[in-house]
Amino acid sequence: MIKKILIANRGEIALRLIRACKEMGIATVAAHSVADEDSMPVRLADESVCIGPASSKASYLNMVSLLSAATITGADAIHPGIGFLAENAQFAEVTKEHGFIFIGPSAEHIRVMGDKITAKQAMIEAGVPVVPGSEGDITSTEQAQKIARQIGYPVLVKAAGGGGGKGMKVAHSDAELEEAIGLASSEAMACFGNPSVYIEKYLSHPRHIEVQILGDKHGNVIHLGERDCSLQRRHQKVLEEAPSPGLTPELRAYIGEVARSAAEKLGYYSAGTFEFLYEDGRFYFIEMNTRLQVEHTISEEITGIDLVKEMIRVAKGEKLGYTQKNVRFHGHAMQCRINAEHAETFIPSPGRITDYVAPGGFGVRVDSHVYAGYTVPAHYDSMVAKLITKADDRAGCLARMKRALQEYAVLGINTTIPLHQRLVKAPAFVAGDYNIHWLEKEFLSEPKAAAPETSAAA
Ligand code: ADP
Repeated sequence: MIKKILIANRGEIALRLIRACKEMGIATVAAHSVADEDSMPVRLADESVCIGPASSKASYLNMVSLLSAATITGADAIHPGIGFLAENAQFAEVTKEHGFIFIGPSAEHIRVMGDKITAKQAMIEAGVPVVPGSEGDITSTEQAQKIARQIGYPVLVKAAGGGGGKGMKVAHSDAELEEAIGLASSEAMACFGNPSVYIEKYLSHPRHIEVQILGDKHGNVIHLGERDCSLQRRHQKVLEEAPSPGLTPELRAYIGEVARSAAEKLGYYSAGTFEFLYEDGRFYFIEMNTRLQVEHTISEEITGIDLVKEMIRVAKGEKLGYTQKNVRFHGHAMQCRINAEHAETFIPSPGRITDYVAPGGFGVRVDSHVYAGYTVPAHYDSMVAKLITKADDRAGCLARMKRALQEYAVLGINTTIPLHQRLVKAPAFVAGDYNIHWLEKEFLSEPKAAAPETSAAA
């Protein structure tokens, strides 16, 4: 039984979780840092507990504080949200050891999939195609060079414990590879405490296609279709859409089933995402995320399935509310990630929002914790809002997104709204003709002929 959930996160995702809980009649506790005292999740949760100072290490990553907060408030379960401890197997384990339900997959699945090398091995065993590369981690430069010559340059050096695009370096020759291994390994050590790296063939024009899956503890697994997340800057997603404009219905059905059956073979439960690169008619697995994702919203929009509610139901031990047959796909959805950053220089822009008017109307969803008078803290991720539009088809969805972006007014700080306003008018994007390199190598490097249409957005 789950009567009260401790939300071990902040910002828009904390709010997203609180909203689902309220609709399910479940009480919520917002665990927050000193910097988030005035935040919307704290205001909307039934209770709140301060878990430490602004630094994430001392608060949102502090397992002892979070478990103490759950104990003193009498919570039954903990939802880790996205980021922070969401993919920390130890946190999933200690949550359970302390008698709370962890709303997510098993610690074992988080562990296996959290290491990209073991994840790739598990996928090979499950019969899923992976990007050609080293079978395990790199143990010497000579070994790496030998593999690189076999698969052909360029290659990508990746961190086994990587995330957020960190610890990744491209190499075009033996000499560059030696340097790339050193750089990627020390970056991986600094960011993830794990220096292991591996190499993969560097694909020159793939799309990033990921499949949302949901499983329960009774062996049932469904997929909710794919998302195209090829619009990236520094390997970080900028705008996502579902379904992908680059896939046929046959390819869509094929990759959905590949991911679904892999999760079934793993005995996976809760929400998860299989990420693939798709190039020249072939899919290659790159990683699995054992948590909810920022872009889960667009899968919700095209299926009508509330992923957070399903995660909670699964954690309680209930069966999924859907079978694959009754997952109905309808229309098209897009999501713009709005960051508190300058739209051209990408310099972070924390500070006070002096005025705020969110767009609305038919088919528009804004998942955001900000409001007029809110101060965006400098301590955390710069994402302040997700703007999602949905329509019967891609053209309608795009027209709606253009309209919503024009309505969006965030004053007092810089945001990436002007970047999105420009992006949704770019001919290649409008045509759906883009790959993972397009945004950075073509769109952002183009001279800006015309200024973006004026709007009240800062
Ligand atoms: P992270 O966990 O850091 O996000 P991923 O493995 O998910 O790392 O990769 C992030 C992004 O990096 C991908 O979406 C893609 O744009 C790029 N990438 C990853 N692997 C390759 C590859 N083998 N070739 C080309 N680009 C890649």
